[in-house]
Amino acid sequence: MIYKRYGKTGKDISVIGFGGMRFPSVNEKYDYDKCAGIVVKASELGVNYFDTAPGYCDDQSEIIMAHAFKSIKNPFYVSTKSNDKNGSELRKKLENSLKRMNLDKINFFHIWCILDIDDYRSRMVKGGAYEAALKAKEEGLIEHITFSTHCNGDEIETIVNEDAFEGMTVGYNILNFPFRQKGLTAAYKKGLGVATMNPLGGGLIPQKADYFDFIRGKNDKTVVDAAINFNASHDEITTVLCGMGSTEEVIQNCKIGDNLVMLEWEKLKEIEGRLYNSMDKLCTGCRYCEHCPKRISVSKYMLSYNNHILGDTKAVLNNVKWHWGIKVEDVRECIECGLCEKKCTQHLPIISRLKEINMWEETIK
Ligand code: SF4
Ligand code: SF4
Repeated sequence: MIYKRYGKTGKDISVIGFGGMRFPSVNEKYDYDKCAGIVVKASELGVNYFDTAPGYCDDQSEIIMAHAFKSIKNPFYVSTKSNDKNGSELRKKLENSLKRMNLDKINFFHIWCILDIDDYRSRMVKGGAYEAALKAKEEGLIEHITFSTHCNGDEIETIVNEDAFEGMTVGYNILNFPFRQKGLTAAYKKGLGVATMNPLGGGLIPQKADYFDFIRGKNDKTVVDAAINFNASHDEITTVLCGMGSTEEVIQNCKIGDNLVMLEWEKLKEIEGRLYNSMDKLCTGCRYCEHCPKRISVSKYMLSYNNHILGDTKAVLNNVKWHWGIKVEDVRECIECGLCEKKCTQHLPIISRLKEINMWEETIK
C-alpha cells in the first residue's frame, strides 16, 4: 500500500481510504460481524483511513466501525462528520459519534457537506459549527478540523484561502474533475490534505466500461483501476475513498493501492484534456437533489439522462421505465421551484433536462 502525507498534519495516510457508506444489508438489517470483517480486512491489507458519518447505512455505519475497531491491530485514523450549523447541535453529534465508536478523539472531523459560500459562512458564525469544532479541538476531542463540500473550484479556493481547515473531502473523479480542479490546486498550495470520494462516478464508470476504456493506461487492468489511479496520481490528492461492501472489493481495491503506478504528469494532462469537454455534465448519482416537493425522483431521471450524453437518447426512456420502474410523465409535475438545482453537486440544469425527457417521450418511438 502506498501512503501519502495528509497536508501538514504529519500523518501518513493510505492512498486507498475506506468509505463506510456501502455496507451490505438485507431489508435495512446489518450483520455487524460480517460488515466489521470487511473493515478489519482493509486494515490488514494496509488501509489506515476509515471514513464514516452519522446517517450512513441507515445510521449504522459508525456502529459497524466501532465493532471493527475492537479487532483492528494496526494504527488507524477515523474521519466522521456533522452537517449541523448550530454549535451546540454539532457538539451533541460529536459526543454521540465518540460514544458510538468508543473513541477518545476523532482524528479528522468534517464540517460536512458545505453546499456553497453562503452555507460556508453560516457554519462560521459566532455560536456556529466551526466555533464548536474549534472548542472541541482545544479540549482534545478533535485532532484535525476538516470540511467536506460539493462546491465548485472557485468556491473551494475561497474557503481554503481563509485558513480555517487542515484538510477537505471532495467528490472528484474523471467525470467531474474540471468542476473542482481549481479548488484542489488551491488546497495543495495551502498545504491541506485531500480525500476524494466517489472515484467511480456513482458506478457509471464501470457500467460504461467500453465508453471509458480509453482512460486505461498500460498498467490498468480495468477502467476501475484506471479511475482510481487517475485520482491517486494527483499530487494534490492524499487518499481515494472507496466505498467497500465486501471483502472481495477490499482485496481488489487494495491491490490497486499496492500496485499503483502513478501516471506521469504528461499522461495525466493528456487524459484530462480528452475528458475536459463533456465529462463534467454527467450526473454522479450522489442524490443530494432528493426531497423534491412534488416527489419527483430527480437523481433517477438525471442518471438516466447520462445515456443521452453518452450517445444513446432512446436508452434514457428505457432506463427510466425499465431500470428504475418510474413514469416519464411524472416529470410534468415539476413546478420549477429550483430546489433540486440548488442542491445539485454537479450544478446540472435539472429542470431543462426533465423537459427534454418529457419531450423525447412524445417524439422518440
Ligand atoms: S425544480 Fe422540479 S424537480 Fe426540482 S425540486 Fe422543484 S419541483 Fe422538484
Ligand atoms: S442530479 Fe445532481 S445532485 Fe442529483 S444525483 Fe445527479 S449529480 Fe447528484
